[in-house]
Formats: sequence, C-alpha cells, structure tokens
Amino acid sequence: MTSPDVIVIGAGCAGLAAACALADRGARVLVLEARGRLGGRATAFQDRESGEWVDNGQHVLMGCYHETRKYLARVGASDAVQFQPQLAFTCVDRDGRVSTLACPDWRPPYHLAGGLLRWKALGWGDRLAATRIMGGLQAARRAITHGAAPPVLPGETVAAWLARYRQTPRLVALLWEPLAIAALNQSIQQAEAAPFVRILGQIFSDDPFDAALGVPARPLHEVFGEPARAYLEARGGQVRLDSLSRVVLAGDRVAYVDTRGTSIRARTVILAVPWFGLSGVLRGSEQGPMAELLAREALRESSSIVSVNLWLERGALPAPFVGLPERTFHWMFDKRWAFGEAASHITLVASGADEVLRQSNEELGALALREATDAIPSLRQARVQRILPVREPNATFSLAAGQPPRSGPGTPVQGLLLAGDWTDTGLPATIEGAVLSGHKAAAAVA
Ligand SMILES: Cc1cc2nc3c(=O)[nH]c(=O)nc-3n(C[C@H](O)[C@H](O)[C@H](O)COP(=O)(O)OP(=O)(O)OC[C@H]3O[C@@H](n4cnc5c(N)ncnc54)[C@H](O)[C@@H]3O)c2cc1C
Repeated sequence: MTSPDVIVIGAGCAGLAAACALADRGARVLVLEARGRLGGRATAFQDRESGEWVDNGQHVLMGCYHETRKYLARVGASDAVQFQPQLAFTCVDRDGRVSTLACPDWRPPYHLAGGLLRWKALGWGDRLAATRIMGGLQAARRAITHGAAPPVLPGETVAAWLARYRQTPRLVALLWEPLAIAALNQSIQQAEAAPFVRILGQIFSDDPFDAALGVPARPLHEVFGEPARAYLEARGGQVRLDSLSRVVLAGDRVAYVDTRGTSIRARTVILAVPWFGLSGVLRGSEQGPMAELLAREALRESSSIVSVNLWLERGALPAPFVGLPERTFHWMFDKRWAFGEAASHITLVASGADEVLRQSNEELGALALREATDAIPSLRQARVQRILPVREPNATFSLAAGQPPRSGPGTPVQGLLLAGDWTDTGLPATIEGAVLSGHKAAAAVA
C-alpha cells in the first residue's frame, strides 16, 4: 500500500482499535508494527519446550470495559473472552482458608454489600466497615455518570481514600488491595486514588455485569491482534510486522513516515506507541513542536509485572483463578479452565513487581512454587515439569503522585495524533484505556 489514508504506528490495542474504527468508516489504513507479533503489551509467544502459547502476562477484563467489548464485537472476537455473569472470586488467605466472594443478583452497589455480608472470610466488624464505603461508591458512580472528576481529595492515595471510609485491615487485604493492584498495577500506598475511584464508579454502575470479571479464552494475540488484522485486511487495510518506523516532521507538518528505509505519506498519522517508545518514533524531532511532549513523557515512570508459568503434572486449581492476598504473587490462574486442552500451565502474577523484577529465574520459580503450594497444598503432590518466568518491566505507567500530566489525542503537528493507554483517558494503564484512546484518536480524525 503506497498511499494509505491513515498510517497507524504501533499494533497494540490502542493502534488496532483506532485502525479498525477508521477502516469501519471506509479509510484505507496501514498499520506499522516494530515487533514480529501483534498486540504490544497484550500478546503471546510460543514456548519452545512445551509448544504451548504463553501470554506475556495474564490479562483480566471487566464487564465495564465497554469500549473493549465494542472493539471485540467489531472484529468478531467477543467469544474470545469468557465473562462471569456476576463478580465472583475465590481467595486463599495467609492462614490457608479458602473462601469465595459471590455477589447476588441485586441492584448495584447493594450486590457487593450482599456478597460481602455472605463472604465467610470476613468478620462482622469487616462487614460493618464495608457498609461505610457504599456512600463512596455511590458518589463515584454519580460523578462518572455526570462526567465529573472522581470524588477524591487532592493528592489522595488509594490507601488514604480507603482509610477515609474506615475500611478494616482485613477488608483492605482481602478485597480492596487485590482489586486495586489488579486494576492499577501499583501498591495502594503509592497509587493516586482518582483512577481507582473512577474504575469503581464504572464497576459499580447500574448494570451488575459491569463488575463481572472476564478471562481470555485464547492466547492474547488471538484475542486482540489476529482478529483485528483479518478485519483490516478484509477492508483494504494492511498490517506490516517487523516495521520499526519513524515520523519525519517538516515544521508543524508530517513530511513522511520512514519504515525500513521506505518513505510513506498519508494525510493522517496516529502514533500508537507507548510513552517509552515516543523518543524512538520521533527521533530527530527533539527540537520541534513535539519537544514539550517528548520532555514530558521522558519523565513518566513505569511499573512492572512479573509472571511465573508453572507446568505441574496433574496439578489443578479449585477455580479458574484464585486470589492470593498478602503474598508476592497476587493472583494465580489455571489456563486449562480457559484454554481447555490447548494449555496445561498455571500462571502466577505479581503486579507492581519492582521488588522481585531482578530476581533470577530460579529464585522467582522457587518463590512462585512456594506461594502456590502454601495456598493450595494439593499442588505439593504434583511433579514440576517446567517453570517459565516472564518479566515486563514497563507493563504500565506509574500512577504515583508527581507524574507528568497526560496528553489528549491532538498534537501541535497537523495530521499527527496520539493514542495509547498513557494518553488522557482518566483510566489506569488497561486494555480499556488503550482501546478508548484508539477510538478517541479515530474520532479526532473525523
Ligand atoms: C504483563 C501485563 C499484564 C497486564 N494485565 C492487564 C490486565 O489484567 N487488564 C488490563 O486491562 N490491562 C492489563 N495490562 C495493561 C495492558 O496490556 C496495556 O494497557 C495495553 O495493552 C496497552 O496498549 P497500547 O496499545 O496502549 O500500547 P502497547 O501495547 O505498548 O502497543 C504499542 C505498540 O507500538 C509498537 N511500537 C513502539 N515503537 C514503535 C515504532 N517506532 N514503530 C512501530 N511500532 C512501534 C510496540 O511494539 C507495540 O506493539 C497488562 C500489561 C502487561 C504488560
């Protein structure tokens, strides 16, 4: 394709969502991706030893991911994510007690109150504390419905927001911390409350399904990447892998896009690269109109995720996923529940994992195995066949205080737009944030 209408640089969820929305409107879109596979930070690779597809990290979606669900429906991949009907999860506390939080079919947020009242893991003091936060959830919900800012105090962290509603240590450890760390990928002491409260407002909306958790039923590239590629190609678009690209500016206009030594021109270029990829894609434009953005994004910090995949002969979890509160690995997923015969591994996930990021594979494997078998003693009988850690040092952007402000899709350069989870969506670094940013960029082209 030599003269596309739009060039999208980056085939993560943001770039693919933008490209598909534009293709839907009849645009000829060229997507250029530096890596040899689609999906960016939501992808999978084939493990050489087992032959199985392994995600770069387990992803969990929520019913309130409306833009993501729209994107999946558009590319015909709605069935690639298995959603539960209502919020429910099993966890194993530090003392090994197994319990399940299951919300009844009541009007939100009372379905959560009902679930918490019945949750065996909690005492009456914890349940009473839970009723105190219902007002906070209602306020969050009202703010989101009216397009207002989340009701938090300036500079308030998630931990401080929870303390304002006098949540007990056990309720924080068993419910709020696992939810927050999964959504924010940062400790509740560090992360600012606003994005979390925004998500809570969305989760506890009028529709109880918004709080349901969804787990991909296929390796990630088959959920977000390949269906989008097929969708684009069927509409005259093209996706090129192994195509590290650079935008060359001429004053406040895009002169051309350079990819593998070829120059391509288009009326609109969408940069859908992560914040840490901007300096590369705009190399040579450090002094021009993009200087301010580049300087800002150079200051944005990252938060890491470490996953350890375990192949255990005859080892299985009692549920598709299990929360492991107050441990290094916060959640454990049995891929067989989601993938069926195609997988035989268990994945443990440590979010906000900077403390263990530099541990050796052996140390990580031993830690993951210890935490898994402490929580589920029956796993001790299973023979360990293989251990495969995966590190993502730049999994998400930091939500700690002092991070630079986030940019909208527009730039000072004519025809140059931005997309990516790090742009100004109000959401943390999530699939939903990425897809929303892609849809916003596509709308800005119009
Ligand atoms: C291990 C892990 C677990 C996660 N868990 C969850 C979860 O449970 N739920 C959730 O909602 N979110 C989760 N996330 C976050 C989510 O994956 C990201 O927010 C989302 O995928 C970001 O998408 P993006 O398109 O904005 O960016 P990316 O996915 O980073 O895509 C950007 C693309 O641009 C490409 N690129 C960069 N520079 C160039 C260049 N010069 N030329 C061409 N291409 C270039 C990159 O190769 C990449 O493919 C997780 C992330 C990780 C890493």
